[in-house]
Amino acid sequence: MERTLIIAKPDAVQRGLVGEIILRLERKGLKLIGLKMASLDEAMLRIHYAEHTEKPFYAGLEEFMKSSPVVLMAWEGYQCVESIRILVGSTNPRQAASGTIRGDLAIGTGRNLIHASDSKDSGETEVANFFDDDELFSYDKSEYMHIYEGNERE
Ligand code: UDP
Ligand code: MG
Repeated sequence: MERTLIIAKPDAVQRGLVGEIILRLERKGLKLIGLKMASLDEAMLRIHYAEHTEKPFYAGLEEFMKSSPVVLMAWEGYQCVESIRILVGSTNPRQAASGTIRGDLAIGTGRNLIHASDSKDSGETEVANFFDDDELFSYDKSEYMHIYEGNERE
C-alpha cells in the first residue's frame, strides 16, 4: 500500500500540536507504521528539500527546521498521499481550507506545522530516507474491513 512521510515540524512540537496531527490522521483510518523524534541537520534537510535549495526561502526554511526537534512519521493507506495532502491543506495556511490541519491551526507559510509527501514516489523515497527497514512495522489493523472495500485492502 501507498506510504507517506509526515514531519511534525518544529512549530508543531513547540505548540503542542503533535497529538492533534496524529489524531486527525488516525481518525481518517490510516495506519501508523513508523514514529520517532529527531533533530534534522543541514545534510538531511538539503536532501529532503532538494527541489527548494535554490529558492529564496530555503535559508529561512532550513534555519526553522533545525530550530527544534521534529516528529517523523510513516503512514500507510490506500491512496494515502492524496488523502493526507487534503487533510493537511494548502502550503499557505491562510489559503488552506477550514477543516484542514494548516487551515485550522496555522497562519504563516514558513510556520505551517507539517510536511507531507506530495506523490506516491516521493512518499516511498522520503519514508526510506528517514526510516530504516527495522523501524517500519507491518501489522494487521482489525478495523480495515470497516474502512476499506475489499479491492482497496489488497
Ligand atoms: N516555504 C516557505 N516559503 C515559501 C514556500 C515554501 O517557507 O514561499 C516552506 C514551507 O514550510 C513549505 C516548504 O517550504 O511547507 C516546502 O514547500 P512546498 O512548496 O513543497 O510546500 P508543501 O509541500 O510543504 O505544501
Ligand atoms: Mg512539498
